Amino acid sequence: MALLETDHDHQHQSTKPKMHVAVLPNLGMGHIIPLFELAKRLVVFDHDIHISFLLINTDEDNSAARDQYLYSTALPPSLDVVDMPPINVSDIVRDDMLILTRICVIVEESLKSLKSVLIELGKPEALVIDLFCTGAFKICSELSIPVYSFYSPSTAFLTFSLYIPTLDREVEGEFVDLPEPISIPGCSPIRLDDLLDEVRDRKNNQYKLFYLHMSRLPQATGILVNTWEDFEPVPLKAIREHSFFLQLPTPPIYPVGPLIKQDESMSSSDEECLTWMDNQPVDSVLFIALGSGGTLTTGQLLEMAWGLEMSQQKFIWVLRKPDDADASSTFFNVGSDVNDPKSYLPEGFLEKTHGVGLVVKSWATQVAILRHPSTGGFLSHCGWNSTLESITHGVPIIAWPLYAEQKMNAAMLTEEIGVAVKPVKVPGETVVKREEISRVVKLLMESEEGEIIRGRVKKLRDSARRAVDIGGSSYNSLSCLIEKWKNESGEP
Ligand code: UDP
Repeated sequence: MALLETDHDHQHQSTKPKMHVAVLPNLGMGHIIPLFELAKRLVVFDHDIHISFLLINTDEDNSAARDQYLYSTALPPSLDVVDMPPINVSDIVRDDMLILTRICVIVEESLKSLKSVLIELGKPEALVIDLFCTGAFKICSELSIPVYSFYSPSTAFLTFSLYIPTLDREVEGEFVDLPEPISIPGCSPIRLDDLLDEVRDRKNNQYKLFYLHMSRLPQATGILVNTWEDFEPVPLKAIREHSFFLQLPTPPIYPVGPLIKQDESMSSSDEECLTWMDNQPVDSVLFIALGSGGTLTTGQLLEMAWGLEMSQQKFIWVLRKPDDADASSTFFNVGSDVNDPKSYLPEGFLEKTHGVGLVVKSWATQVAILRHPSTGGFLSHCGWNSTLESITHGVPIIAWPLYAEQKMNAAMLTEEIGVAVKPVKVPGETVVKREEISRVVKLLMESEEGEIIRGRVKKLRDSARRAVDIGGSSYNSLSCLIEKWKNESGEP
């Protein structure tokens, strides 16, 4: 995709001071990646913008994947990565804290230094924040810096987030006990089974934090969404036109996506993997990866292994040590987990699948694999970045949602857009059985139905590319936003 090649018409070297915008992601690769891609896109799109990318740091930072992504390729000249003062995690985080609580506690602590960081940077003209950084609204109002929210999940999930305060007011008891799916004005209903864990128990601290941050969204001067007009027309229309969202009031929405990872540095094992792919037929390899945090239980990992073997299809599997308690267990140490596949794969699996499948430990160059012509399917946890990366490269999906809003994404991809299939778990079983895994893999990789799904995703790929090309909807939306920033900062 030509994201970084679509330079605006500012090729000249300007002598006037550049407009300065700061960008602040949460913790987590699924947040750092799209906000960093936004930062790169902005400085390449308009050479009169300077970006400070503010990175939240902790004394326990242990993410090989993060460091490799941020520091292994040269940055464009007008983009600086600025480290926020490191946070002592052990002072504020307890072992029993769930993922969202942990993120929010660390972000809140880090925001204590935001005011001084912004002043030291000379007060940028705007700040773009991630989902759980809404503490920045108050700090920036004291500094008169407008704050924009970058909403990293889908627009459909944004409508749910904007609806949460209303739901909270109107519903007594738990949302999961409602008699009907949740109807958000102007949008598709949400099945209760698909609700994210964070809103299933309103007494839990995770819910309180989710509520707090989502209820502050209307304070943003604008909301950037990683989507495009033709991909999510229904929720975009609802937000812009439905009386419910108009009266909130909802800030202006800027669909600027798909913003996906462009460059990946390659280790020698990544190179080997791509060389292996060079020798496979077009659309013949299934790629299996569960985002930055995703892990399977011990029992599910065994079924997955034998299901893949039964399917007789080629595969590349990003493999992590199973975890029976937490489906997002590598979230905070992405790419650094200690991991020897032989110790937990079923005996004989590696020998039996030799030449048919490749196992990659912990972390792979996902975009390079999805971009490769031999990739024909993606078994994905349906994180929003993985979803966009798959669609942008025309790869159909086997939906394997694990945590956060992934079940809602999976429902949208299978039932509304028709670019994914989802394996069925037999009621009462704790795992999806190997026969079912083999069935969906074969369906996607070698059946006529799989071909139809592939055809749909390739059409969507073309629409994604048009959106970010010169004159496309996301290109124009970003252009409007930059114009607005310049007008507000008093630039001609
Ligand atoms: N990713 C990767 N290699 C891996 C697993 C994940 O490069 O082995 C990247 C992937 O390309 C995506 C991000 O990590 O950009 C994961 O984001 P997503 O929103 O899909 O899921 P999350 O990690 O937030 O659950």
